[in-house]
Amino acid sequence: MKRYSVFAVAREALRYHQGWGRAWRSPEPKKKYEAIIIGAGGHGLATAYYLGKNHGLKNVAILEKGWLGGGNTGRNTTIIRSNYLQDASAAIYEKARSLYETMSQDLNYNVMFSPRGVMMLAQTQHEIRGYKRTAHANALQGVSTEFITPDRVKSLVPIINIDGPRYPVLGALWQPRGGTARHDAVAWGYARACSEMGMDVIQQCEVTGIRRQNGQVQGVETSKGSIDCEKLGIVVAGHTGVLADMAGFRMPIESVALQALVSEPIKPCMDVVVMANTVHGYMSQSDKGEMVIGGGADGFNNYTQRGSFHHVEETVRALIETFPIISRLKMLRWWGGIVDMTGDRSPILSTTPVKNIFINCGWGTGGFKAIPGSGWAMAELMAKGHSSLTEEFGLNRFKEGKFIDESVAAGVAH
Ligand SMILES: Cc1cc2nc3c(=O)[nH]c(=O)nc-3n(C[C@H](O)[C@H](O)[C@H](O)COP(=O)(O)OP(=O)(O)OC[C@H]3O[C@@H](n4cnc5c(N)ncnc54)[C@H](O)[C@@H]3O)c2cc1C
Repeated sequence: MKRYSVFAVAREALRYHQGWGRAWRSPEPKKKYEAIIIGAGGHGLATAYYLGKNHGLKNVAILEKGWLGGGNTGRNTTIIRSNYLQDASAAIYEKARSLYETMSQDLNYNVMFSPRGVMMLAQTQHEIRGYKRTAHANALQGVSTEFITPDRVKSLVPIINIDGPRYPVLGALWQPRGGTARHDAVAWGYARACSEMGMDVIQQCEVTGIRRQNGQVQGVETSKGSIDCEKLGIVVAGHTGVLADMAGFRMPIESVALQALVSEPIKPCMDVVVMANTVHGYMSQSDKGEMVIGGGADGFNNYTQRGSFHHVEETVRALIETFPIISRLKMLRWWGGIVDMTGDRSPILSTTPVKNIFINCGWGTGGFKAIPGSGWAMAELMAKGHSSLTEEFGLNRFKEGKFIDESVAAGVAH
């Protein structure tokens, strides 16, 4: 596969860009693989990539019912941060954030990681206490964050109104190396690297059944026929319950719609990510100039990738007090994704009641930022049967009551 570089771009420019090959192959499925991953979102693709890169397991297929990255991976607002409260969360999210720092070089694919800084506004006394506590916890965990004053907030984000009548800005939790990345590029970069290692990325291939014998996985039924495998990873976010049902067990997951919207493009006016969790809204500016805005999750379960209209109105109304300039912006596009929510708002990376079936889900409203760390940990779990990063995220925590409560860090925020 051709290596992307400035020299390759120059060479291709001279021959009218006729020499670029396809970024990944589109093969038909083989009869059998050592490992199958269901779901070509970021987490599934990253799992496959690190299975090959870190553990030498390359006889792998990634099966996707639609197109790769077409689930939540291509629908999110791309916020990357690791300022979580609990140690287990900070460990996996910081692992992911640090892998994002070098992802473009590792994958030889520009994922446009932009560590522009992420700020979570404190707009109530309760939030001041909560975020100061998180900043102290982060200091112990080795995650670089600080609690900053309203004046510092204003100097970092000149368009913000810190004297709002209902919710004035009282400070913020600031992570200077948080930021954003191009979501599709993350999926495409991993797919290209997996394909290069000889793995099969198979799109338009829906898994319709999971075959088991004597409590162990045998293979899957798909819209492209039956395929055998020794190990199976289920990495399907909002469709986790459906796939678990096929494998004969139940998951403590609810599927709900979460939505986002973008405005018309405007000149650069905000070069950090701002989250306002009390009013349920957050905003960043894309490289194209659009203001990328996200809000809360629907309050009922469903599988439609849309979400209800009242959320858009509520989100924009809430943000206008803090960002008065957006009252005059036209909103261009609005979409939704189905996110997989656990009770403690922490993910599940786990073995399952069926031998050699592994599950990775529960990233809810905030899993884009975790993609490389999750893939790294899930690959280790699938290859070795254990990983220090996944130990506390097992399914057994719901039986034993050992929850990793991140509802403040991840409830609706991303
Ligand atoms: C509007 C919105 C905003 C968000 N904002 C952020 C944010 O700012 N920061 C952040 O960190 N996170 C954010 N998230 C969450 C983040 O997008 C997800 O946690 C993450 O993308 C999940 O990735 P995934 O690979 O697990 O799932 P997905 O990307 O959804 O991939 C799962 C794949 O499985 C496939 N699949 C399902 N069933 C089958 C089947 N039977 N056979 C084969 N394939 C199947 C699906 O088609 C899909 O492509 C947001 C989510 C939404 C919806």
